Amino acid sequence: MIKFLDLEKVNNRFRADIDNRIRDILDAGWYLSGKYNEEFTAHFAEFCGTKYAIGVANGLDALNLIIRGYGWGAGDEIIVPANTFIATILAISENNCTPVLVEPDINTYNINPDLIEAAITTRTKAILLVHLYGQAVQMDKIWELAKKYNLKVIEDAAQAHGAMYNGRRVGNLGDAAAFSFYPGKNLGAFGDAGGVTTNDPELYEKIRAIANYGSDYKYHHVYKGINSRLDEIQAAILDAKLPHLDADNARRREIATAYRTRITNPKIILPKTYDENAHVWHVFVIRTENRDALAKYLNDNDIQTNIHYPTPPHKQGAYSELANQSFSVSEEIHRTCLSLPISPVLTDEEVGRIIGVINAWN
Ligand SMILES: *Cc1c(COP(=O)(O)O)cnc(C)c1O
Repeated sequence: MIKFLDLEKVNNRFRADIDNRIRDILDAGWYLSGKYNEEFTAHFAEFCGTKYAIGVANGLDALNLIIRGYGWGAGDEIIVPANTFIATILAISENNCTPVLVEPDINTYNINPDLIEAAITTRTKAILLVHLYGQAVQMDKIWELAKKYNLKVIEDAAQAHGAMYNGRRVGNLGDAAAFSFYPGKNLGAFGDAGGVTTNDPELYEKIRAIANYGSDYKYHHVYKGINSRLDEIQAAILDAKLPHLDADNARRREIATAYRTRITNPKIILPKTYDENAHVWHVFVIRTENRDALAKYLNDNDIQTNIHYPTPPHKQGAYSELANQSFSVSEEIHRTCLSLPISPVLTDEEVGRIIGVINAWN
């Protein structure tokens, strides 16, 4: 069986370095807010090109903390793509803001910049972008709209660590960005972990305080905060893996190129990219009319696949208030999408076998 994602193999490449770091933490007996947090957040900010990075407990908290940090709440609207992982929209609801869903572009699967202006009202505070599947959103139009209507641009970069738009990394394309370091992401920890990047010193201080019981210094509480911190062990592991992220993403690109040039089955719609550096291929999403039949056929041929995602947010029980809205492009993507295995440890032989099996499907 070719696994959809072999995390043991992914992480075993860094075993010696990680073993040493964990032993060091055991020896020091220091588990939170220590040197590994300082080192990782400094390195991650440098990687993204931002002034600041903050380690938090997970990607949902990172999104949530950005919205809280800006102080948006009831009556405020946030524009968000209709096709995203539910967490993006949950963070908006958790702050009592209203998610305003906008259709994706069928070619990039990212929010369609041409449809955003019509969704802006006097209550709009921000455009919350998602660099979906690992591809950076094309920013020009969005920057223009943000300036024209005085909106913040927030990035959900949970799937796109290292992706670039015109030479700038995601995480540094808006006012603040949320990252997830969930084990399966392009940069993954050994459990839950997340981060926020920003160039805004006020937001940085505020989010750091809110994430630490609302405390700006010990036992002094200025906000009704939460506990959302990055463990030293997770920070140490992420810092060991970060120097290899660009090489891993380059390998993902190589595999994506093989799929995109050698899958020739006319029943398959291949993903597109407008610039090789824009995409880090967190997942490789093809589309086809008979998606479930293809998934079964691949499984029968010992190839695991996944669906990102089977049900759009506006069709979820949690969002019954959106059920009467219609997003036909998003629905079409959800109905037809299938994710093939892609990871830095997939071998050329495995890639070749996947391509052969798909081309033989009829
Ligand atoms: C994974 C993911 C999140 C949530 O991150 P967690 O660390 O699992 O909380 C948010 N948005 C998107 C687009 C994601 O893929």
